[in-house]
Amino acid sequence: MAPLPTGAVIGCLGTGQLGRMLALAAAPLGYRVHAFGPATAGPLLQVTDLRTVAAYNDQEALAAFADVVDVVTYEFENVPASTAAFLSERVPVRPGPRLLDMSQDRLVEKRFAQSCGARTAPYMGVYTRDDLRHAVAELGVPSVLKTRRFGYDGKGQVVLRSADPEALDAAWARLRGVPCILEGFVDFAFEASVVVARGLDGDVRPFPLVENVHRNHILWQTHAPARVDPEVRRRAERIAVAMAETVELVGVMAVEFFVEPDGTVRVNELAPRTHNSGHWTQDGCATCQFAQQVRAITGLPLGPVDVLHPTVMTNLLGDDLADLPTHIADPACRVHLYGKGEVRAGRKMGHINRRVG
Ligand code: AMP
Repeated sequence: MAPLPTGAVIGCLGTGQLGRMLALAAAPLGYRVHAFGPATAGPLLQVTDLRTVAAYNDQEALAAFADVVDVVTYEFENVPASTAAFLSERVPVRPGPRLLDMSQDRLVEKRFAQSCGARTAPYMGVYTRDDLRHAVAELGVPSVLKTRRFGYDGKGQVVLRSADPEALDAAWARLRGVPCILEGFVDFAFEASVVVARGLDGDVRPFPLVENVHRNHILWQTHAPARVDPEVRRRAERIAVAMAETVELVGVMAVEFFVEPDGTVRVNELAPRTHNSGHWTQDGCATCQFAQQVRAITGLPLGPVDVLHPTVMTNLLGDDLADLPTHIADPACRVHLYGKGEVRAGRKMGHINRRVG
């Protein structure tokens, strides 16, 4: 199939920083980005004048949006399934609704990972207080109770350290009795991820495995590539490729892993989009993840994924912005700001990519 012609328009659901960096990468390849979302201001809206300000369930607005874009993608995974389905009847939605659905439900996501030959944490579905007692008796403590849907950055989850009925009742009440899963605690050496792209022609290219360091459940640093045994790296990259192929990905997805001290890798979760842990590619890799996303969804050939130099990506969270002058003055450092006005504790304001090799 021929790639979208120069001047074609990519529709983006969501107006945050991932959409902004998508638009910035689309421009040199000759494409424009049309933003869709309820916000009247935001990182993406500062870099494109094509926009629809509307709710995700506004069918009239979605139909008009579908008429003026050539392909639709998204920059957050909680896009309502009905929105993706409505749009995909009118215009290609990449990645497709199947991956989107799967990545919105931790139980389905884990079953999918296992069906691709990957290990996960041991887990059980939990729908009632009794299920929780039963699951804790099976999986033990510590373990992690997570809502099946709408969890992110540590929200919608509770670590269980005691199997006492009162502790279980408190955890169950805290998650408000919605459908959950209980996961056995993985005693990992570090957390890691692979961002993988698959083009319209079926070509699949994983970016190398990277190591992720979290603070308060929010990604703080990514070390790229991961400093591990090459066999561990290949193992994780093979899993990401298998998942991309099985789901017939067109676009970019991220697979998050726990890596155990003996090199066992377990899939934690998926994101059907570019990922914070892939930001290092903007300065440390032959193709950046956003350019790869553009290439994949427009039908261009994927770009090379060779590492140019080892890189540490550090998120600028909240007040970290105060150190900006130092980073800007540092020749080893590239600064990427998202244009967010209000500084709040833990809010992702930007990131820096520091060359380390
Ligand atoms: P998640 O929202 O699933 O990515 O979880 C947020 C963070 O909680 C992860 O990045 C881990 O640091 C920790 N975590 C989640 N699940 C587990 C688990 N099963 N075992 C150990 N740590 C976990």
